[in-house]
Amino acid sequence: MSTERGKLFSWPWLLFPVVTAFLTAVVIILLWHNYQLNKKIVSLEQQIIALELRERELQSQIDQLEKEKQELLQNAVGLLRQKSTLMRKLMRELGLSRYVRRLGKVTKGQGGPYLAPTEQYKLLLERMDKYLKVMKHVPLGKPCRGYISSYYGFRKDPFTKKRAFHAGIDIVGPYGEPVRATADGIVYRLGYQRGLGRYVKIRHKHGYITVYGHLCKYIVRRGERVKQGQIIGYLGNTGRSTGPHVHYEIRYWGRPINPLKYIRAGRKLAHLTQ
Ligand SMILES: [Zn+2]
Repeated sequence: MSTERGKLFSWPWLLFPVVTAFLTAVVIILLWHNYQLNKKIVSLEQQIIALELRERELQSQIDQLEKEKQELLQNAVGLLRQKSTLMRKLMRELGLSRYVRRLGKVTKGQGGPYLAPTEQYKLLLERMDKYLKVMKHVPLGKPCRGYISSYYGFRKDPFTKKRAFHAGIDIVGPYGEPVRATADGIVYRLGYQRGLGRYVKIRHKHGYITVYGHLCKYIVRRGERVKQGQIIGYLGNTGRSTGPHVHYEIRYWGRPINPLKYIRAGRKLAHLTQ
C-alpha cells in the first residue's frame, strides 16, 4: 500500500500541477497581451478616423480658399479690364488712337486661345503699364496750383481791349508757386520775351510742345531732359502781365490747342491710377 502511494506521488505526477500552473500563466499572459493589442488597435483605428475627418475638413477649407482666390482674381481682372477700357477711351479722346491700336487688346480668349485669369491679369497689367508710358509724354493736368482766370480762344485783350486770340490759358496762383512740366520732354527754348516774360518751352514726343510764360524764375537749362511733374520754374508777373499768373500753352504739331481737354484728361488719369 505504501509503495502504491509512493508511486502515485512519484515525480511525473508531481510535475502536473507545476505544468498546469505554468501553462495557465502563459495563457493568461497571452490573453492579457492580446487584450492590450486589441485596445491599441481600437485606439489607432479611432485616430485614423479622426485624421480622415480632419483631412476632409482641411480639403474643404482648401477648396473654399481656392474658390475665394479665383473670385478675387476674377474681380481684379474685371476691374483692370474696366480701367483699361477707360484708358483707351481717354487716349482716343486725346487723338492717340494709333497707340491704342498698336498696343492691342487683351482678349478673354474668345476667338483666340483661352487665357487663364492669372495670365489675363498679367497681360492687362503689362498693357496698362505701356499705356501709362505713352501718357508720360502727353501734357496732362495743370502746370501749377491756382484757378483759371482766362481761357483759350478769342477774348478781349486786357491791354489793348481789342478782340484777340488767346493761344493758351492763364492760371492765377500765389507768386513763387512751383511750375511743373506737364509731360516728359526736352527744354528746347527759354529766355525772356516782351509778351511772355520769362518763359520755358518744352518739346515732347507725339508732336506736343508746352509753353510756360510770365515766370519769375526758371531752374532748367536749354537741352535739359525733364520729367512729368518736375519743377521747371516759379510763377511770376514778368512780361505783358496784369498780375502773378502762368500763361500755359499746348501746341500740337505746331498749332495751339485748348489745354482744358488735357487738364481734364489729367484729372481722369489720376482717378484711374488711384
Ligand atoms: Zn495768357
